[in-house]
Amino acid sequence: MLKGKVALVTGSTSGIGLGIARRLAAAGADLMLNGFGDAVEIEKLRSGLAKEFGVRVAFASADIGKAEEAAGMVASAQSQLGRLDILVNNAGIQFVSPVETFPIDKWNAVIAINLSGAFYAIRAVLPGMKSRGYGRIINIASAHGLVASKEKSAYVAAKHGILGLTKVVALENAEADITCNAICPGWVLTPLVQKQIDERAAHAGITVEQAKRDLVGKKQPNLRFATPEEIGDAAVFFCGPGSRAVTGVALPVDGGWTAQ
Ligand code: NAD
Repeated sequence: MLKGKVALVTGSTSGIGLGIARRLAAAGADLMLNGFGDAVEIEKLRSGLAKEFGVRVAFASADIGKAEEAAGMVASAQSQLGRLDILVNNAGIQFVSPVETFPIDKWNAVIAINLSGAFYAIRAVLPGMKSRGYGRIINIASAHGLVASKEKSAYVAAKHGILGLTKVVALENAEADITCNAICPGWVLTPLVQKQIDERAAHAGITVEQAKRDLVGKKQPNLRFATPEEIGDAAVFFCGPGSRAVTGVALPVDGGWTAQ
C-alpha cells in the first residue's frame, strides 16, 4: 500500500516509534529512522529492517529538541531517500514531579522534545510535501493530550499542545492533500513506561508485576497494555487511501481510558 513512499519516524530506535516503523515498512514504505542508542545496535536494527521488509532504511541521530538538528534530519532524509511523504512525530520523554518542585530544566526538555520538536520537523517537511501535493503527518500525542494526571505538568501541557498544533497544520494544508492527525495512546509497555513502573514498585514496596497491574487498572478499562505495533496499525490507517478525508483529528488508542 505504501510502496514508493518515504517515511521519517522520530524516536524510532525504541518502543512505539519502532513499532510504527515496522508497520510502515511492512506496508512497503522506505524509512528514515531517528533516535538515540548504541551505534552498533542501531545499525543492526537499520540493516535488519531493510532485509526483513525489502525497503530502503536510513538513520539520523538528530536531537529533535534542537531546531537545526531537526531541520538537518529532514534534509538528510530527502537527500538520501529522495523525498519525504510521511512524517511521524513520535520522539518523547517523560518526567514526573509535583508542579511546585518540577525542575525548570526538565520542563524545558519535555516541551522541547515532545512539542517543539514536532513543530521543527513539520515546518521542515512541508515545502517538499506541498511541491508534490501529498503528505501525511502523524503526531503521537497521548491520552494525556485529552485528559490530565497529577505530577505530569510538562508532559500533559506538551501533549495538549501537540493536539492544537495538529489542528492548525491540518487547516493550513487541507487543500494540498496533506493531512495532519494525532494518535493518543493509553498505556503501551515501552522503556518510557517501564521506568515509571519500576519507580512505582520501589516507592510502594510492591512487585513490578503488581505495579504493572495497578498502573493499567487505574486508568484503562481493557486492563492491558497496547503493543507498539497496534499504534503502528493506527499510523498506517492515517497513511492509507481510506483516510484521505480525515484531517485534524485525535484518535485515542487507549482501551477506553478517555471514554470515562
Ligand atoms: P521510548 O522511551 O521507548 O522511546 C522514545 C524514543 O525517542 C527513543 O527512540 C529515543 O531514543 C527517542 N528520543 C528521545 N529523546 C529524543 C530526542 N531528543 N531526539 C530524538 N529522539 C529522541 O518511549 P515510547 O513509550 O515508545 O514513547 C514514544 C512516544 O509515545 C512519546 O511521544 C510518548 O510520549 C508517546 N506515548 C507513550 C505511551 C506509552 O505508554 N509508552 C503512551 C502515550 C504516548
